[in-house]
Amino acid sequence: MKRIAPLSVERVEIMAALGRVLAEPIVSRTTIPPWANSSMDGYAVRAEDTGRESVELAVVGRIIAGAMPSRALRAGESMRIFTGAPLPEGADAVVPQEDVAADGQRVTVRGRIAPGAYVRPAGEDVRAGDVVVTPGGTIGAAEVGLLATLGYSQVQVYRRPRVAILSTGNELADLGTQPGPAQIPNTNTYSLMAQVIEAGGEPVNLGVAPDQLEAIIERVRWGLSAADVLVSSAGVSVGELDLVREALARSGAELHLWQVSMRPGKPITFGTREGRPIFGLPGNPVSAMVTFELFVRPALRKMEGAEVIDRPRVRARALEPIPNPGSRRGYLRVTLTADAQGYGARLTGDQGSAILRSMVLADGLAVVAPDTTIAAGEVVDVIVLRALEPRSR
Ligand code: AMP
Ligand code: MG
Repeated sequence: MKRIAPLSVERVEIMAALGRVLAEPIVSRTTIPPWANSSMDGYAVRAEDTGRESVELAVVGRIIAGAMPSRALRAGESMRIFTGAPLPEGADAVVPQEDVAADGQRVTVRGRIAPGAYVRPAGEDVRAGDVVVTPGGTIGAAEVGLLATLGYSQVQVYRRPRVAILSTGNELADLGTQPGPAQIPNTNTYSLMAQVIEAGGEPVNLGVAPDQLEAIIERVRWGLSAADVLVSSAGVSVGELDLVREALARSGAELHLWQVSMRPGKPITFGTREGRPIFGLPGNPVSAMVTFELFVRPALRKMEGAEVIDRPRVRARALEPIPNPGSRRGYLRVTLTADAQGYGARLTGDQGSAILRSMVLADGLAVVAPDTTIAAGEVVDVIVLRALEPRSR
C-alpha cells in the first residue's frame, strides 16, 4: 500500500461532492445559529420574573421567524415568539404556549421557569472558526447540509480514480454477442466495473482480449494511457495461455507480487508502471471479486484520499460449522444476521470460486485460518461487504 498515493484534488459543487472524499478542512466562518432563538411557539420571558406563584406578564411584542425583535424585554414583560425566531435582548427563556393562559394583552405563567428553557443558544451547532469536517472523510447527506449551512457552494474533493478493466480469455463472449459452442459469458468486466463504481472510482471498459500476447499488450498500453489504475482478470496463473504477467512486463510494468496464499484467489499479480498501480486478478468470477475487495478496493480508497480504506469487520458467531480445509487462508462468503447476542454468520452455500451466487447472497467474508473449522457457536471475524438490511432470500 506504500506504493499507492492519493490523487490530485478538484473543486466541485456540493451536490457533486456527495460520496467523494473531502480534501480540505471545512472551517466555519459564521456562528450557527447566529443568535439565541426559540425552540417552541410560546412566550419569551425573563426567568427571574417567574416564581413559585403564578405571574402575569404584559405581552409587548410579537416575533415571527425571519424578523428581529422590535426592542429589548424589560421586567414584567413578555413577547409572543415562534419557533426559530430570535430572542429579544433581556429574555432568557421561552414558555411554550400550551403551558400558559393568554388573552393577547397579558400572559399568565405558572411556576418557576428555568433560565435557558426552550432556548437554542447562539453557536450551539457551530462557532466561527470551528473545524466542522476534517479532510479524509466521505461526504454524506449530513455533510452536504452542513456545507450549505456554512455557505459553501463548492468544496474541494479528491479526484476519482479512473480504473481500466480488462478481461482476457479466448472462451469469453461479451454481453450482446452470441456465445460460440465452447464459450462462456463475460462476467468479470461487469462485476469489476460495478465494484469500481461502488468503491468511488470511474471504470473504463477495455473489453475482452484473446489469449494472445500482442493483443493483451495492446490493451494494457491503452489502459495505462487512459486510466490511473489497470485491473485485468484471468490469464495470470501458470498455464501455457496465462500471458498476462508477460504482457504486463513487456508493457514496461514492474511486478512486485505474484500469488497470495488465499482461497479464493491465489494467483494475483500486483505491479506498477510510472506510479500507476496494476492488478492482475484471477479469472474465476468469485476469485476476481474477492481479490478486488482485498487488494484493489483499499488501493482505490487510498487514491481517493480516504482516511479509512478498509471495510468494517465484525465478530460473529458461526450458526453452523464453517470449514476451511487446505493450506490457504479462507475468505468464505457468509450471511450475517443480527440478534440479541450480536451477529450470526452462516455460509451462503457452496463456496466454489466459480459460483457467483455465493457472492450474490453474501453479506460478508468470514476470514478463516488454513486447515481450520470454525465450530458452531465459535466466533469468527467477518469483513462486512454491504449494509445489513432485512433481505428476502
Ligand atoms: P484463467 O485464470 O484464465 O484460467 O481463468 C480461470 C477461470 O475463470 C476459467 O474457468 C475462465 O473461463 C474463467 N473466467 C475468466 N475470465 C472470465 C470472465 N471475464 N468472466 C467469467 N469467467 C471468466
Ligand atoms: Mg484463461
